[in-house]
Amino acid sequence: MSFYRDLGLDSVINAAGTLTRLGGTRMHPEVVAAMAEAAASFVPIDELQEAAGRVIAEATGAEAGYVVTGAAAGLSLGTAACVVGMDVAKMDRLPDTTGMRNEVVVQRGHRNSYDHAIRAVGVTFVEAGYLGFPGAGGTAPWQIAAAISERTAAVACPILNTPGTVALPEVCAIAHAHGLPVIVDAAAELPPRRNLRRFIDEGADLVVFSGGKAIGGPQASGILAGRADLIASVALQHQDMDVHPETWSRRGWISDGHVAGVPHQGFGRSMKVGREEIAGLITALRRFVDGSDEQDAQHAHLLLDIVESSLGETPSLKRERTYSDDNPIPSLTLTFDGVDAPKRAVAMVNQLMAGSPRIAVGQSYVDVGRVSVNPFSLTEEEAAVVGHRIREEISRLTTA
Ligand SMILES: *Cc1c(COP(=O)(O)O)cnc(C)c1O
Repeated sequence: MSFYRDLGLDSVINAAGTLTRLGGTRMHPEVVAAMAEAAASFVPIDELQEAAGRVIAEATGAEAGYVVTGAAAGLSLGTAACVVGMDVAKMDRLPDTTGMRNEVVVQRGHRNSYDHAIRAVGVTFVEAGYLGFPGAGGTAPWQIAAAISERTAAVACPILNTPGTVALPEVCAIAHAHGLPVIVDAAAELPPRRNLRRFIDEGADLVVFSGGKAIGGPQASGILAGRADLIASVALQHQDMDVHPETWSRRGWISDGHVAGVPHQGFGRSMKVGREEIAGLITALRRFVDGSDEQDAQHAHLLLDIVESSLGETPSLKRERTYSDDNPIPSLTLTFDGVDAPKRAVAMVNQLMAGSPRIAVGQSYVDVGRVSVNPFSLTEEEAAVVGHRIREEISRLTTA
């Protein structure tokens, strides 16, 4: 790639999956073409967002949809909507939430580093439950109910496989009994494709998905799907509001009393979405909806066959393809043996990245001596190179 080379950079073979720090996903040429086409002419962004929202609503079964710059931005914007609704004076004050409903209830086992996106709105988390699994610990439904007060704006529910947490349908039942919305972080929950509709079906009021992961959209894109009133609040806090009340495209909302006036540039202005991202995401989403988990899994197995055949025998390592009903796309895991296993896994990751070509492999479990090959972003040629380079590093590491 001559652009990267011009800047003095070596590109990387991505055997690590849809990682943001490597650039996310590989966009299909049709997606790139849609972005280029969108860039060539202009359109009112509010109209484009509404049209895109209809596609998202159809794909997710939600009332409404919105294109955001990523799942994290969707969490921020969705939370802001839960806090202020259609009150433009409150929109104006964010992220100062003094005197507003400014607490978000979350199960302790669901706290994670993407929390920043929610806390950025000026809310604080109220944790419910314990980490006390296995056994009688974890979270009980009454603990969620007890954490709710007149200061609660929303209940957050990231989809993480934390044992002992209360599942989404029950979380929604509790929140709804208190008149509160539930916001779901499902950033990386695709595939399976059925999850596009699942969390809305289970009662979520807002759900976020990353556009730059399995959907195959632009890296700086994401989906926010959910209740129409909350999505309307998001639009008002996100879109360019440098307009006069008399010329504002939404001026009807002032005359009918829906809003008190034009909100100013809002909390979400720093997360703006370009027409190119909207075009790319919607094109990718349509392709994703038209595809199938079975076909994607088959293609991934084929790529791993190529990796494994150029890898050859690896008697010193345990080797396994991992996939499940919840994530049908297989990965190849390689586990080193013995007390040195973590050290060898770390060396493998670093040497593959330092080699030529540079290769990124999955490193989430190096601490237990395991590396993984995620085929999602590989081409067939790259798959052969990955297998070959891993074989070289294994022989170096096991003879050292
Ligand atoms: C990737 C991820 C995010 C962030 O998504 P972006 O689209 O990169 O903003 C948030 N939460 C979880 C659980 C994720 O895996």
